[in-house]
Amino acid sequence: MAAYVYDFAEGGREQAGLLGGKGANLAEMTRLGLPVPPGFTVTTDACRAYLATGAEPEGLREEVGRHLAALERAVGRRLGQPDDPLLLSVRSGARFSMPGMMETVLDIGLNDDSVQGLAKTSGSERFARDSHRRLLQMFGSTVMGVDAAVFEDALTRMKRDRGAADDLGLDASDLAVLAGEYRRLIREHTGEDFPEDPVEQLRRAVLAVFRSWNTERARVYRRREHIPDDLGTAVNVQAMVFGNLGADSGSGVAFTRDPATGRPGVYGDYLPNAQGEDVVSGIRNAVPLAELERLDKPSYDRLLEIMRTLEHHYRDLCDIEFTIERGTLWMLQTRVGKRTAEAAFAIAAALTDEGLTGPDEALARVSGEGLARLMFPRFDTAAVGEPLARGIPASPGAAVGTAVFTSAEAVRRAAAGERVVLVRQETTPDDLPGMIAAQAVLTSRGGKTSHAAVVARGMGKVCVCGADSLTVDPAARRFTTAAGTVVEEGALLSVDGTAGAVHAGAVPLADSPVMRYFEDGGTADAARAAGGVAEAVHRAMDRADGVRRLGVRANADTPEDAARARRFGAEGIGLCRTEHMFLGERRRLVEAMILADGQEGRDRALAALLPLQRGDFAAILAAMDGLPVTIRLLDPPLHEFLPDRTDLAVRVASAEAAGGHPDPHDTELLAAVDRMHEENPMLGLRGVRLGLVVPGLVAMQVRAVAEAVVERRRAGGDPRAEIMVPLVDTVEELRLVRAEVERVLAEVSAESGTEVRCPVGTMIELPRAALTAGAIAAQAEFFSFGTNDLTQTTWGFSRDDVEAAFFSAYLDKGIFAVSPFETIDVDGVGRLVRIAVEEGRAARPGLKTGVCGEHGGDPASVHFFHRVGLDYVSCSPFRIPVARLEAGRAALAGGTEGPGDAGDASR
Ligand code: PEP
Ligand code: MG
Repeated sequence: MAAYVYDFAEGGREQAGLLGGKGANLAEMTRLGLPVPPGFTVTTDACRAYLATGAEPEGLREEVGRHLAALERAVGRRLGQPDDPLLLSVRSGARFSMPGMMETVLDIGLNDDSVQGLAKTSGSERFARDSHRRLLQMFGSTVMGVDAAVFEDALTRMKRDRGAADDLGLDASDLAVLAGEYRRLIREHTGEDFPEDPVEQLRRAVLAVFRSWNTERARVYRRREHIPDDLGTAVNVQAMVFGNLGADSGSGVAFTRDPATGRPGVYGDYLPNAQGEDVVSGIRNAVPLAELERLDKPSYDRLLEIMRTLEHHYRDLCDIEFTIERGTLWMLQTRVGKRTAEAAFAIAAALTDEGLTGPDEALARVSGEGLARLMFPRFDTAAVGEPLARGIPASPGAAVGTAVFTSAEAVRRAAAGERVVLVRQETTPDDLPGMIAAQAVLTSRGGKTSHAAVVARGMGKVCVCGADSLTVDPAARRFTTAAGTVVEEGALLSVDGTAGAVHAGAVPLADSPVMRYFEDGGTADAARAAGGVAEAVHRAMDRADGVRRLGVRANADTPEDAARARRFGAEGIGLCRTEHMFLGERRRLVEAMILADGQEGRDRALAALLPLQRGDFAAILAAMDGLPVTIRLLDPPLHEFLPDRTDLAVRVASAEAAGGHPDPHDTELLAAVDRMHEENPMLGLRGVRLGLVVPGLVAMQVRAVAEAVVERRRAGGDPRAEIMVPLVDTVEELRLVRAEVERVLAEVSAESGTEVRCPVGTMIELPRAALTAGAIAAQAEFFSFGTNDLTQTTWGFSRDDVEAAFFSAYLDKGIFAVSPFETIDVDGVGRLVRIAVEEGRAARPGLKTGVCGEHGGDPASVHFFHRVGLDYVSCSPFRIPVARLEAGRAALAGGTEGPGDAGDASR
């Protein structure tokens, strides 16, 4: 049978799936010979087995017993030994970091006997009594299910009785009385006694941590972070060390570089005479880590040396938690640290310069999601006045919203469409829904490593924390600045997470340097001129372009979009939708075409449209000169070009009611709208079907393309138009339309005396087309997957309705972790794509394949399209840099397509 328990000395960082991130890294540090308090990890396998059956897995108790015995031998003390007790911490630690979302129980091993031993060995009766009552409180709520407020109330009563301002005002005997009271409360609320047996305490604490995998806040966090619900958590059991044994003790959190900007240096917080929990909660303001040099130089020097070791070993930014117990430094945690998008690019470039990573590894360390974030605007510094307050720039970016003071209010207002800024003294895991709902988070307490900062950075949410000049009054729903300005709930705030400032009102926004770099052509010079993180971004882009196999094209249907796409690095247009060219003034001509009752009238309308279309295409071909431009024939149902039925009906009816005659054009249009009404227009007369039933439509569009090609050639250009047929179901449709296309191309070639050849291809956006792709390929020189329609028709989800109607319920129920309209559904829609690529290529070797649905710019989907072997992805101009970057990362990740793993790239 596989083991359920691993000693720290047995594991390593590569075992994060089994031991959780924390356990794997504790093992790694142990292996490196760093000072880690000894302990062992109970695996995620054990957690999953427990959660599946509700019973303690068979053999677990004995295995824990054996590892406990080994630990006791190693430290020379027994768990809860009356005269000199070994105490244990029991902490959660999942595969992916879920800060503060699950439970921890400290001081396991204390009871009425061992508390006296601890008093003696620590030399502090008060410390021992305080540890004991903390255990009763944590165990009572976490393990035994007593409402935490019950203990808080008792503590508050005790402080009031003793006239104590805070916990420190209670002495050892007060705390002993309190422990008795806690024990009584536990009995009252649960009907059972707090277990005095230390081994029983340990056993129950481990199971309680397992259960905390499924708390509401943990589930919410996992949904937000796309962490699967079935991973389970490991549990780390470790000898306790104490940072609260006096002035020569303390706890801290540190980063090997600045996680906000990536700049090298010593970053972190230190809290003398405190446990680790006190630092992370931000309840007491910590001092900068550099202060430790003054307080305890040997520990500081040793810490810096360990940080260098870790950064070299992991070849990445690490964050660490440590405790100093009476001058001895202990490492309690390390991991590759979360960082802002800006820091990710800066660190990737810096580590390459320092020779720690190569350019490919550097590329693997950044992400398209981060790049997208850096392309957002920032506040216009010229427009920024004196801030209301300054704080710590914990997570960069600029956000404007109305101030709210509770998580619930943030959720309520955001659901109604309002942009909000969540203002708290400090946040706790219970504030998570509000943080998700808010544009920005502002706190008056806590440092760069406080809960608010860590969680906001992880979400890419703007955050300023520790703005300690603000007095936040959540009950009154307002805060007061140092200058006495009162800001009430509902007031507009602008939060600058880059500068660490909060301003009254809505400050205007300015472009980001990264956007400027792309707009200026994305060259090394443009990066230098743009400054900031643009140079690091350029290096990643350069590498991605060097290694990617996927081409990147744009979905663009105006010359402006085409030009921007080209600046952003597009290698052509993968989808030029022509329907947008029939709006505005031209609507009248489309109406005339629809209303024409004979071919003659229709031809007149089409003839009027022809020069306009030719102009459209010539301009786009000019903007994309020398690169392919895939022009799609008209796709949407024609009634989309007619006025709204209700408006027409009201106009006609009110004219009749007024006793007059309605406008005959209105009457005619109303009749046409009624005639063309469809219950399911997305499954109706659209796409290739239109071309087959509206005579002259295909011919007009193809003629416009061909004449534009001729015009561009005559102007000395290099036009490369391709013609694409939408919504094909069967090869017969394509055969007929293709014949028409070729007839017109031959006609224009003859008229102009220039040979006009355009590749003709089809969209694959219906399941039947994907499943008969071999036959269709005989008539198509290229396939472009329309994954929007393909998702709609594969799932039977109306793409215009379902996301608003019920996707949030589906996401809540875990039916899928992300909308299939956002990230390709690998198992279903992806399978159709794979079948079509394989069968299409088998029938026509060299068939070009691409994707032009929204998924073409989605990072996880780009990885799938790489694996399935497409030639290119096509996406909106602003997503092109993201697609280029992810195409490069996908090439490095390698691999061939396998079901269910498209989501990996998003983490
Ligand atoms: C698609 O269906 O994926 C597609 C690109 O076409 P449209 O979005 O225009 O229907
Ligand atoms: Mg489509």
